Amino acid sequence: MPSRHPAVRLLLLALVGLLLLPLAATAPASAASLPSKKKWVSDTVAAASGSRTYLQQRLDALEEGDDPLAITLDIDNTSLASHYDPGKPVVAVLKLATYARNHGVKVFFNTARPEGKVAGAVASLEKAGFPVDGICGRRSGESLAEGKQRCRAEFADQGYRIAVNVGNRSTDFTGGGYDRAYRLPNYGNLLV
Ligand SMILES: [Mg+2]
Repeated sequence: MPSRHPAVRLLLLALVGLLLLPLAATAPASAASLPSKKKWVSDTVAAASGSRTYLQQRLDALEEGDDPLAITLDIDNTSLASHYDPGKPVVAVLKLATYARNHGVKVFFNTARPEGKVAGAVASLEKAGFPVDGICGRRSGESLAEGKQRCRAEFADQGYRIAVNVGNRSTDFTGGGYDRAYRLPNYGNLLV
């Protein structure tokens, strides 16, 4: 009965569609993609919220003989918008760094970029408006977390208390050596 074929085809298509619908609804379509720049900016603002107030409280609580305060900042996708807006600052973190500088708190950068290439990073940071009181990069053979820990230890050895540590990956925070962490998004390590 050739006249029934179109109807049968439609029915089959509808059935296939119904079968595929749940698959489409549960497919990890967004898991491998980053959010919009607007969303990222708003997430960074939320993550850094309260950091200046905290620093102010720490400054107010300083007593004679206490070590001077410092903050440590990761660079990529924390201080510089390496993915979303290369060369430009992450505004929420720039505000914290500027606040720190204006209140006598040292601004140190702690990066997984190789130790031999930090001079270029300083130029990029300064061009983006950051005060740079010190920078420490990773040595060959060190893991991400090892480099970050050694760098924090070196800043502490210079006599500073790291009140605030800002980063966007778990390796930015492993091992302590700071008082409060502000964790910017990495969206399942898609942003490094
Ligand atoms: Mg980073």
